[in-house]
Amino acid sequence: MYFEFSEEQQSVRETARKFAEERIAPIQEVDEKKGIFRRELIAEMGKLGFWGAIIPEEYGGSNIGFLGAVIITEELARISASYSGHFVSQTVGPGLTILRQGTESQKIKYVPGLVNGDLIGSFASTEPNTGSDVASMKMTAKRNEKGFVLNGTKTWITNATVADVCLIFAYTDKEKKHHGMSCFLVDMQNNSGISTHPIEKLGLSCSIAGEIIFQDVQISPESMLGKEGSGFPILMEMLNSTRLFAAARAMGVGRACLEASVKYAQEREQFGQPLGKFQMIQEQIAEMYVEHEAAKLLVYQVASNKDRGKQGASDVSVAKYYACESAVKAADMTLKIFGSYGYSME
Ligand SMILES: Cc1cc2nc3c(=O)[nH]c(=O)nc-3n(C[C@H](O)[C@H](O)[C@H](O)COP(=O)(O)OP(=O)(O)OC[C@H]3O[C@@H](n4cnc5c(N)ncnc54)[C@H](O)[C@@H]3O)c2cc1C
Repeated sequence: MYFEFSEEQQSVRETARKFAEERIAPIQEVDEKKGIFRRELIAEMGKLGFWGAIIPEEYGGSNIGFLGAVIITEELARISASYSGHFVSQTVGPGLTILRQGTESQKIKYVPGLVNGDLIGSFASTEPNTGSDVASMKMTAKRNEKGFVLNGTKTWITNATVADVCLIFAYTDKEKKHHGMSCFLVDMQNNSGISTHPIEKLGLSCSIAGEIIFQDVQISPESMLGKEGSGFPILMEMLNSTRLFAAARAMGVGRACLEASVKYAQEREQFGQPLGKFQMIQEQIAEMYVEHEAAKLLVYQVASNKDRGKQGASDVSVAKYYACESAVKAADMTLKIFGSYGYSME
């Protein structure tokens, strides 16, 4: 492929691959079955500089850029789709948003901790009756003499039960529609009025998603991130960045499928020869390879554009769509190439 990486980006890839193979691969099969989330791994990856890839050095980051961050995500996803998602909940979501919108004291309080993994981050837009249509959310933040009072339910929130800090989107003035939504930084631990519980999922079991209920939660005026009424554009800008990382995760999953299929097709024999000798299997693997290479180019290009200050929302969506569709197709083909073993939990 013609995309060229700097020495720094190549070295980051090697570090991420080594970490994923040595620290996550040995435990993940059992952990995925049991739904175990290991907070210490987030801290270890933080100390290796993973979460700080898009954060300036003065806040603890390495500032190697979106392309570097995408490479790390891809390498983690190749081994564990669960742990590769933490880029979004640590720094692409909260960290970067605080950096762009926050006051100096908000930045100092939260960003270094999210970067080094001592703090677990999260962001909450989705509600039981609010998914794609984010403006339909019901959660309110009512002003009082001590700041704001939060009431409402968020659901499907990554890290809901383990987060230290959450970026909450709520209406300060529902009458104003989009212009009445605001964003808040909420400390999640030991905060009376907040209750959480996990949601059982089909997969990604090492990554927790759950519901958060806010019942008369008093927060200070300093909890507001950005200006009152600016929650909707803050959310849109954040989602534009998180989409790229959904694409990078899919790309890593696509590569894992391709590698597993090639290996299995070389080892498994039927009718007196390896599966890989059959033209139909070759065709499936070739298709997987072509689509994976195309996804890589799209995702790397969008990341590299972002590093050069170009924020094309449609380009990110194209990359996300294509990388995700090709990963799902690769998983489907891999399952078939593995025959009955594709259906086992082994
Ligand atoms: C593992 C996981 C982790 C998550 N983590 C977080 C998190 O950390 N924070 C957070 O806020 N949310 C999180 N979410 C929620 C996620 O953002 C929502 O699932 C997403 O916004 C879609 O909303 P929904 O699931 O309610 O689907 P819906 O919006 O109800 O959509 C249902 C279906 O209708 C389609 N649809 C919707 N609108 C249209 C339309 N206009 N035209 C055509 N089709 C349409 C959708 O594509 C989908 O197929 C997470 C979800 C999952 C599964």
